[in-house]
Amino acid sequence: MWKNVGYYNEEIGALEEMKVPMGDRALYFGDGIYEATCAANRIPFAIEDHLDRMYNSLRLMEIPFQMDRSQVRAELQKVLDAAEDAPIHFLYWQISRGVAPRNHVFPEAEVKPTLMAYVRPHTMKPLEKPYKLISMEDIRFRLCNIKTLNLIPSVLANQRAAEAGCDEAVLHRGSRVTECAHSNISILKDGVLRTAPTDELILPGITRKHLLALAKEHDIPTLEEPFSMVELMNADEIIVTSSSALCMRVESIDHIPVGGKDPQRIQMLHHEHIFDRDRHGQAARRRNHVARVAEVRRHLYPVRRHVPQLDRSLILILEG
Ligand code: PLP
Repeated sequence: MWKNVGYYNEEIGALEEMKVPMGDRALYFGDGIYEATCAANRIPFAIEDHLDRMYNSLRLMEIPFQMDRSQVRAELQKVLDAAEDAPIHFLYWQISRGVAPRNHVFPEAEVKPTLMAYVRPHTMKPLEKPYKLISMEDIRFRLCNIKTLNLIPSVLANQRAAEAGCDEAVLHRGSRVTECAHSNISILKDGVLRTAPTDELILPGITRKHLLALAKEHDIPTLEEPFSMVELMNADEIIVTSSSALCMRVESIDHIPVGGKDPQRIQMLHHEHIFDRDRHGQAARRRNHVARVAEVRRHLYPVRRHVPQLDRSLILILEG
């Protein structure tokens, strides 16, 4: 067991001690794709959705990865199981086109793609501390629907956000809002949840998908249509979603206060509910213990009302 676990082509060990071959095309071209999610009690959030998107990115990048879904799932579970206990872990994995002498052209067919992964303990950001954003022109290429390793514009955008004391950068092409540097962005306006459509300008986020489903479950109408920076600034609420932070409310953009006008609906879309949606389904399939969770929740209700922070950790631990 290690606190931080590393994995490269079936080799597993302490993350800090793992090494990768110099010929890996991820190093020269960012020639690969990745996925990331958090795991509570070693159950990754929305793993099937992440695997769907992973195979789609591989197809679009023409990376001939041979491992099937159940093998990938099993390898990732090995990495998670090798990690020291923590209520929540962060699970990252990437597949590169393989190890070969540097050449822009794809390597010979016998070169096999590489699978790399790591797991680290993770702390969810509290919803009570909303995000501060900066806004920036979106200068990324037009393949944003593929989760490639090429992330330089996003790295620069996040650096600018950090320098401004902010959490994320919201990107726009002209007046049209696309997404954030490593998250999707949605707005609530007049009771409708609106988010950009899944074209080549945004990553089809897994948390975005679950947010839309959760809104429908709460009878909140949804609209997958582009919106402008002006509409963003005037939204009743702004929600930033990603698999590492799940659902975050936004309180300012470029240091101007925004949102905060629909607390009731934002509470319905709280990130605990997103986590629960997926995990309940998995828990039911894996261990059929939904009834026990309901029981635990009933007992905990008085505690949860008064100590919301405690709620999440207790529920996550007890659901395991
Ligand atoms: N958009 C971009 C550019 C991202 O990098 C990410 C996450 O890494 C997201 C959106 C959110 O996607 P998900 O909810 O699947 O984590």
